[in-house]
Amino acid sequence: MKPQNKFQAAVVEASKKLPSITQEQIQWGYQNCIEHIGQRTSKAKITCTECNHVFTGEEGEHQCPNCKAKLKVQTTNKRIFKSCEYLCFITTCQGYQVIRYLMIKCTAKADSYPEYTHAEVMQRWIAPDGRYCTFAKLRQTMGTMYYDSWIFSTPLELRSEVDAYNRLFPYYYYPKRQLIPELKRTGIKKRHFNQRPFDVYRALLKDNRMETFLKSGQTHLFKAFLSDTSRKLDNYWASIRICIRNGYQIKDATMWFDYIDYLRMFGKDLHNAKYVCPNDLHKEHDRYIQKKAKADAQEEIEKLREKEESFREAKAKFFGLVFSDGHIQVRVLESIEEIILEGKLMHHCVGGYYSKIDSLILTACIDGKKMETIEVSLSKLQVIQSRGVCNKNTEYHNQIVQLVEKNIPLIEQRLAA
Ligand SMILES: [Zn+2]
Repeated sequence: MKPQNKFQAAVVEASKKLPSITQEQIQWGYQNCIEHIGQRTSKAKITCTECNHVFTGEEGEHQCPNCKAKLKVQTTNKRIFKSCEYLCFITTCQGYQVIRYLMIKCTAKADSYPEYTHAEVMQRWIAPDGRYCTFAKLRQTMGTMYYDSWIFSTPLELRSEVDAYNRLFPYYYYPKRQLIPELKRTGIKKRHFNQRPFDVYRALLKDNRMETFLKSGQTHLFKAFLSDTSRKLDNYWASIRICIRNGYQIKDATMWFDYIDYLRMFGKDLHNAKYVCPNDLHKEHDRYIQKKAKADAQEEIEKLREKEESFREAKAKFFGLVFSDGHIQVRVLESIEEIILEGKLMHHCVGGYYSKIDSLILTACIDGKKMETIEVSLSKLQVIQSRGVCNKNTEYHNQIVQLVEKNIPLIEQRLAA
């Protein structure tokens, strides 16, 4: 595609100065990135797929006595072995950091020489300020799920960013590397911390605090911020500075972040080494977990208490209301606790009804045994429902409903009071 802005135009211009990958570098890739196979028959006859020399031996790692290639010996009837690897080059061009990806494919056969092919499939260009763009070949995107389905015949040119570029995780690196001065001075050298160099370099170039982590030996912090980009460094920076100043090494970064979050929650001074540099992080972290659990429980109790109070305020005028036909006794439930308990005993969902402003919840008993729970609409002054255990009606269902309906005037009286 054509450059979309000045930055991309400048990179495209610079890319004209990038030398091609040399034959020597490609050869290095063939030798070092591809696993050579020794094809072994059940009669212990091993064929070197590099030079087709035949010798005898066991499974495992062997060196071919003829071509000296390191062989991984497999006992198999298979005669064709295909492999595909990436070789990554870390280099610079015109003040940009460039990461180049060479794809190497090899088809090795037990009866002929191996065939190697290669193509440079992607380049990532990073400016000293962290901005970047990507040059790539086109990929086959129909009918395949693989991110590495590059079409070798397409040109390597500026492309709009797609997620697939980020999924390419290099395993092999060409030994000679070059870094732009802005990266060299960070002391990163050859370390990638198990992340893609692209991410490492950009993290360092975008935020000089990452460089501070490297230089102060806080590599666990460096790794943590690298692998979890959603975590905001600003939230911890003040405390991290205290740690660095006190020579306090953060070894378990995620636990330390959690711990700092707890300190923040409990209003502790995040600039105070006494808090942010605990001798026993594990112990302090656990202590705050306990503390938080207690605070949560307390809050829960407070909330219930508040709810109970507002329930009482809304429904107190109906408390003490009881009526009976001499056999069935009906009374108003007088607290949230009582309503929840009723729901549990009766295995129905009345437990959540305490918050219904328009509803009055009553319970019907015979000789102290719970029969049904009744919901009355206060605006309509009607029975909405009456339910027994597990939402089933009892044989007294109609009697109960009739009894409540007959006594609706009592509810109406209280409502008017
Ligand atoms: Zn050989």
